Amino acid sequence: MELNYAKIKTNCTSNGIGIRVALFVSGCPFHCKNCSNPESWNPNYGKTFTSEVKEKLFKELEKTYYRGLTLLGGSPLASYNIEETTQLAREFKQRFSDEKDLWIYTGYSFEDVINFEILNYTDILVDGLYVDELYSPKLRFRGSSNQSIIDVKESLKQNKKILAKQYYESE
Ligand code: SF4
Repeated sequence: MELNYAKIKTNCTSNGIGIRVALFVSGCPFHCKNCSNPESWNPNYGKTFTSEVKEKLFKELEKTYYRGLTLLGGSPLASYNIEETTQLAREFKQRFSDEKDLWIYTGYSFEDVINFEILNYTDILVDGLYVDELYSPKLRFRGSSNQSIIDVKESLKQNKKILAKQYYESE
């Protein structure tokens, strides 16, 4: 299935460290209470992520001040999106190597997706469903306190969830 997206946010500073490009993909199976993007639950919402759009996104990311790319939504790891998002992540790493990082937000838990190929190209995974009762405006890079900010490389090395503690500091 083709990948659709709701929006591409340039100069984004709220979904990951530094200045980033954020791609909000369409489609989410979780339907959390008070989700901030309910329009993106429908996988057909928004526009098609064509190769032209992808090129534009990479071109934007070439600007030196960008720290990296964030995939969120919606659900980048949903079954109907995973093939396309994996391809995008693979190309992102081929193009930018470790000069820029990849953050992914997912409603799945790390344990659910530990064997997904896309994790090989991911630096940080913010996992877990948004739980409205656990929301706090003080949380950095997360909506609710049950969600974890995970150092993916270290977690894959140790085969268990390792938190990226440096991103919790200012909470
Ligand atoms: S996982 Fe995220 S996008 Fe999906 S319903 Fe929950 S808050 Fe919304």
